[in-house]
Amino acid sequence: MPETLGEGRDLIPISLVAHQAFCPRRAWLEAMGETTDTHQVAVGTEAHAPADDPTGSRSQRYRAVDVISHDLGVIGRCDTVELDESAAMTVVEHKATPVRRRPEVTEPMRVQVALLSGALADMGYPVTGQAIYFINHRTRVDVPLSEEDKAFARETVAATARTLAAEEAPPPLEDDRRCSRCSHITVCLPDERPLAPVTRRIVVADPDTQVLHLTTPGSRAYVTRGRIEVSKSGEKLGTFPIERVQGVVVHGNVDLSSGLIRELLWRSLSVVWCTSTGRVTGWARAAQGPNGGPRLLQHLASHSGRIDLARQFVSAKVANQATLLRRHGDTPLVVARLRELQREALEAPSLADLFGIEGDAAARYFESFLTMLRPRVVAAEELTFSVRTRRPARDPINAALNLCYGLLTADALRAVVACGLDPHAGFLHSSGRNKPALALDLVEEFRAPVADSVVINAFNNGEVRARDFSTVLGSTRIGERARKALIAGYERRVTGTFRHPIFGYDVTWRRAMEIQARLVLGVVDGTQPQYQGIKVR
Ligand code: SF4
Repeated sequence: MPETLGEGRDLIPISLVAHQAFCPRRAWLEAMGETTDTHQVAVGTEAHAPADDPTGSRSQRYRAVDVISHDLGVIGRCDTVELDESAAMTVVEHKATPVRRRPEVTEPMRVQVALLSGALADMGYPVTGQAIYFINHRTRVDVPLSEEDKAFARETVAATARTLAAEEAPPPLEDDRRCSRCSHITVCLPDERPLAPVTRRIVVADPDTQVLHLTTPGSRAYVTRGRIEVSKSGEKLGTFPIERVQGVVVHGNVDLSSGLIRELLWRSLSVVWCTSTGRVTGWARAAQGPNGGPRLLQHLASHSGRIDLARQFVSAKVANQATLLRRHGDTPLVVARLRELQREALEAPSLADLFGIEGDAAARYFESFLTMLRPRVVAAEELTFSVRTRRPARDPINAALNLCYGLLTADALRAVVACGLDPHAGFLHSSGRNKPALALDLVEEFRAPVADSVVINAFNNGEVRARDFSTVLGSTRIGERARKALIAGYERRVTGTFRHPIFGYDVTWRRAMEIQARLVLGVVDGTQPQYQGIKVR
């Protein structure tokens, strides 16, 4: 964000002005704290590291030189400033453009070097040249600047100030080549916002990292030499490179060292703690997070109510229950009624009506749930189930559902936190009940296709057996073997891909949750006309 100096003038980081020159929306996203962790960005950051190190300076070449200009209204840092024999200076910016692209000086690069050299000149130094060094191509290209280039750089600073002062984010570009090269595409979602099939080929970035589940009671996890290690009673149970971890879920009595928690938060990775039965007890998130402004709008919207969002959550939930029942069950009349309820949800005049529809659908769906298990499995395992009992669970199926809904809530929490929304300010679930209402809202449309599906498969495939559960004083407890089998089944499911029913591309269920959270964010911040729940066919 701009830095305010004594005379009240906002100085804008030159990097933001370069983003503006590329796309105003990217400047906005960057100013909102949206960081991107794509492989390309990581490679670029690593390649760029020597240029960020002031200790790499030599007598004729300075590295990481800070510059400021009140006249231009900018502040920034030159990668390298070179001096010739007469002490005249050349600003050299380092770019990690991928080798597959040509080492071309783009307009944002031209704006950036114009402002860096202009600021350096304003500080009283003799600047005679600018250049871009393409690290991966080992190619240096001189960038002579015309008066028009300098005037355009000034205009872009003014345009950046207007972007940052605006109440709403600039709309995404439409069908524009820039988007396919943009580091912010995974948070911007320019192709998804019209809520229509994506007509050109796009890459749906899925992080190549994993969620780490810590499940062994009495174990301890800590960080050492860039790896997370887990041990119990002196025996090492596992070790994982921390850069491959997307988040951590702690199940039950597992200890985390403060060093590990600090390292995870430093990397903006969230930690979710659950009981051994899957109940989410808390989470930790980094102090730095994006979208502070939209988060305020979320609270206002949550307080005044957004029935349009609530309708979509319920309608998609019921639609997906109907689809799962149609695929695996044997109750066509129930499926037909659920289809009616799915449509009624979209017309519900109030939250009370919505809850009535949701409750009616849930009762019918769970009455038929057992038909989705193979009859010989039901008979051999002596499984019974007709009604959802949350806590305590009354039977193995309810205990398994509880665990998987907890896993789903942990994923929804991470998705909500990743885009800077407050998990507590919801639109269907009441924020007044002190639960993570928005995360629970988001969970609804994923319950049947993710969690219920995992439970059905685990019983049908024999991965989970009735004997893996025990009952104490009417409460069914899940055993260690079943817990690990369900967590493994859940991970297989959320990292598996499906054809997105709205956008028509293949995407993992985990990434789909974050996309849905970002569409909620768009509705809240005004860049998204409406929200549409995922309804699997
Ligand atoms: S993805 Fe496209 S619209 Fe979004 S910030 Fe990047 S260039 Fe702009």
